[in-house]
Amino acid sequence: MNENEIKQKLTPEQYKVLREKGTEAPFSGKYVHESKDGTYRCVVCNNPLFNSDAKFDSGTGWPSFDKAIPGSVKEVVDSAHGMSRTEIVCSQCGSHLGHVFNDGPTETGMRYCLNSVCLDLEESK
Ligand SMILES: [Zn+2]
Repeated sequence: MNENEIKQKLTPEQYKVLREKGTEAPFSGKYVHESKDGTYRCVVCNNPLFNSDAKFDSGTGWPSFDKAIPGSVKEVVDSAHGMSRTEIVCSQCGSHLGHVFNDGPTETGMRYCLNSVCLDLEESK
């Protein structure tokens, strides 16, 4: 898929977050309080990124997970805005997804902070 096709496929807000590294407003995303079982996929390329059993309520206003499906995301050092953070991108299409922090409350110690607009939940039957 080229950039123009991606742009056609996404809403303007999705495009801003996924391709221009934007961030959706906290508590605005449709998956913040989602509790259905399934697999969260990349909305651009359908790459399976997170399983619902890794999702937890971080209280931040963004959907949060304590682990990614192995190989599904790539970590990139992000020094924008004067902060040193670790950005996560889809390993398949390179789209921006969110950030990962090492202050997670579960045994993995990781907190993957996602934008809902980047995700598409495929419910398990
Ligand atoms: Zn992708």
